[in-house]
Amino acid sequence: MGERVIPLIDERQAALPLPSPSGLELPPGHLRDARGRPLRDLRISVTDRCNFRCSYCMPKDVFGKHYSYLPHSALLSFEEITRVARAAVRHGVRKLRLTGGEPLLRKGIEQLIAQLAALRTPAGQPLDITLTTNGSLLARKAQALKDAGLQRVTVSLDGLDDATFRRMNDVDFPVAAVLAGIDAARAAGLRNIKVNMVVKRGANEDQILPMARHFRGSGVTLRFIEYMDVGTTNGWRMDEVLPSADVVRLLQDAFALVPLAASAPGETAMRWGYAGPDGRHDPALGEIGTISSVTQAFCGDCNRARLSMEGRLYLCLFASQGHDLRALLRSGADDETIEATLAAIWAQRNDRYSELRATLPPEAQPAHSSGRRVEMSYIGG
Ligand code: SF4
Repeated sequence: MGERVIPLIDERQAALPLPSPSGLELPPGHLRDARGRPLRDLRISVTDRCNFRCSYCMPKDVFGKHYSYLPHSALLSFEEITRVARAAVRHGVRKLRLTGGEPLLRKGIEQLIAQLAALRTPAGQPLDITLTTNGSLLARKAQALKDAGLQRVTVSLDGLDDATFRRMNDVDFPVAAVLAGIDAARAAGLRNIKVNMVVKRGANEDQILPMARHFRGSGVTLRFIEYMDVGTTNGWRMDEVLPSADVVRLLQDAFALVPLAASAPGETAMRWGYAGPDGRHDPALGEIGTISSVTQAFCGDCNRARLSMEGRLYLCLFASQGHDLRALLRSGADDETIEATLAAIWAQRNDRYSELRATLPPEAQPAHSSGRRVEMSYIGG
């Protein structure tokens, strides 16, 4: 089947106008959006390239050999990324997640991590710096990432069965190499390691129990992610979504699970602890998580913003347009102006796509009207 050409270029060009810098004299961390949500989590996509072609994110027939990636000059430099992060920290961000595409493909990413690790909150505290990777380069890079200041890592792995995994990543990449990356991350001292499995009905639900058995008691937290209608290239259909409630039921047939409290406000995952013989959570057995954007929307306390590799700030994973901070960064604007502009952008944020998806008929759904949702490979998950 030939390549599908989807005009992603247009979408990338069309940035939202920057609001005039807010006159808001806000004490650090007091910024709220139009729904009263603080800004706590900045996801930073550092490249539009990836060495996998997961069908739910970067299908090969769209992101094929003729696909035009962004030139390096279009990407934010590490200094520019750090300036945006510094401004965001001033307004309350405590967690930075590096994403992509595949972030470990960005040359010198250790230098960026070192720059971000040097940032401090207004109270002088270090930030929580993490990274989401497909694990393909982790075995080689784990120690350097840790030494640069990375504290933890999340690895995407959609199955233990090699044939299933190769089908999901569509580049014939073996499971063993990703598992070796996870081992290297642990050996390097990266803590709180998580594994994310996207569950797509008809593709890999038979991997739910093998994955749970493999990671139970390993110190690695496995999270099951509902297949999402991100972007417009993955051909998403509701009947390919396996609701998290079904996943938990399946797991409860095999293991005793107890619900756990969220570890932080705005956490996307519902946590379930493996119970010991006394029926209570046994930390040595660990936990699993479910991320249910389709069937259990969590927009109410969503405190995340996303920065694309070329400096567009998106306020929702399902947004159709972002604000162009790169132009501002390259206009010679000072840090106060960057901070004030960021505040003005966040203050007017009203996004709640997943909530609306659940309540509105398809034709009335928000991004449907604009015909485009930004691609996950462009702003990270
Ligand atoms: S749909 Fe948008 S607003 Fe809702 S939780 Fe996801 S990113 Fe946040």
